[in-house]
Formats: sequence, structure tokens, C-alpha cells
Amino acid sequence: MREDRTREDLVDFARSRGGRLLTETYDGWGALHRWVCGRDHSFKASPRLLVDGGYWCPECLPTVEDASGWDWDFHAEVDPLLARFHQSRP
Ligand SMILES: [Zn+2]
Repeated sequence: MREDRTREDLVDFARSRGGRLLTETYDGWGALHRWVCGRDHSFKASPRLLVDGGYWCPECLPTVEDASGWDWDFHAEVDPLLARFHQSRP
């Protein structure tokens, strides 16, 4: 169980992706929370999907069905986590 998590953990996580957590309370690891990405897209997702699953904003990120739209520069501009690895690329 991951119920030792707090809202602060989610706030930190969202910040690490260049976004924010909009939901005012922590409702559970599998519960839908509202987030906003670094490009001001608002979306609902569970912490489990985002933290354990590695997903983020559905408007910014390419889907599994169509991954052709991936653009490191576009994402690294607003996402500190991706920027860190983008910059470390040779
Ligand atoms: Zn977005």
C-alpha cells in the first residue's frame, strides 16, 4: 500500500514535471486528481498512473498508438525531469 503518501509528495512530483497539482486534497493513490502541465493543459489522472506508470499530460505526450510526435526540445522546455536527461544526451 502507498497510503503513506501525502498531498505534498504529489505537489513535489508535479513540480518535478514542470506542472502543478490542482486538487486540494490527497484522495488516494488510485483516485483521480486534477493536474496542470507546464503548458497549462488541465487533466485528470491518478497518482498511480503518473508516478508508477510514467504518464503525464495527455495533450502534450504522444500516445502509445502514435509515438511519432515525440520532440525532446518541446518537452524539455517545460519539464525539468525530461530537461535533465535531454541535456545529458551527447
Ligand atoms: Zn500538456
